[in-house]
Amino acid sequence: TSFGFKEVSEEEKSRLVGNVFSNVASNYDLMNDLMSGGLHRLWKDRLVSKLNPFPGMKHLDVAGGTGDVAFRILETINSMKRRAIQDSLNDSLHEETRIFICDINPNMLSVGKKRALERGLGEDKSLTWVEGDAEALSFEDNSMDGYTIAFGIRNVTHIEKVLAEAYRVLKPGGRFLCLELSHVEVPLFKDLYDLYSFSVIPALGELVAGDRASYQYLVESIRRFPPQEKFASMIAVAGFQKVEYENLVGGVVAIHSGLKF
Ligand code: SAM
Repeated sequence: TSFGFKEVSEEEKSRLVGNVFSNVASNYDLMNDLMSGGLHRLWKDRLVSKLNPFPGMKHLDVAGGTGDVAFRILETINSMKRRAIQDSLNDSLHEETRIFICDINPNMLSVGKKRALERGLGEDKSLTWVEGDAEALSFEDNSMDGYTIAFGIRNVTHIEKVLAEAYRVLKPGGRFLCLELSHVEVPLFKDLYDLYSFSVIPALGELVAGDRASYQYLVESIRRFPPQEKFASMIAVAGFQKVEYENLVGGVVAIHSGLKF
């Protein structure tokens, strides 16, 4: 062409688009690792161990992005199944496990599907990727045993709507779990953490992702998110019972949970 570009075949185009997505994902993963010093992996492990996944469960991971939480749930269930096969306890194995990953951003879902292939979960029929809004889910009432949302609720427009939807889709006995960046109250640690978030995070964002403003916004959105007790009371207002939370690293993150009776 007059610009010196070659005609790009369909195949080439999808390869290029794939590259863009994997750049987004690798940047995203790298930033998560850098900002949390790798801790986000342990926090997600903790979330999944609190969930207590079981073979045959129907689970919904909202704001599931690149699949990080869903893969952990599925891998936990798959290893339980392997153990059960070894012990010839086959009863629980016939139930079909279903894990739905719902995210509003199709690019994040594409990255997730690609990562599922890389992890050898591409053929696993248990995973279903759904584009959708946490505030208006397309799933039926009383259809899920578990609901997780990790680093997702902080940025939605109406937290109350997300909680009401979580309550609606869970079965009675179903479990709600939310992992989110929260508030540090430990005096000296709080000062250090403030210094870290207001200086180091935006600088890292600029250096690694070339995007200072987004990371500044990230820090501000953490400040604006309701503190642990307030968020717990919002979960109770949505109808959940036995609402509790666990602070990790002095409240840098918190895992809130509730049960639908
Ligand atoms: N849960 C993943 C994790 O822990 O790595 C991804 C977290 S990422 C910080 C936040 C995700 O929330 C993004 O993938 C974004 O597209 C999604 N998101 C934002 N608003 C949403 C909404 N209203 N409904 C569903 N997903 C949403």
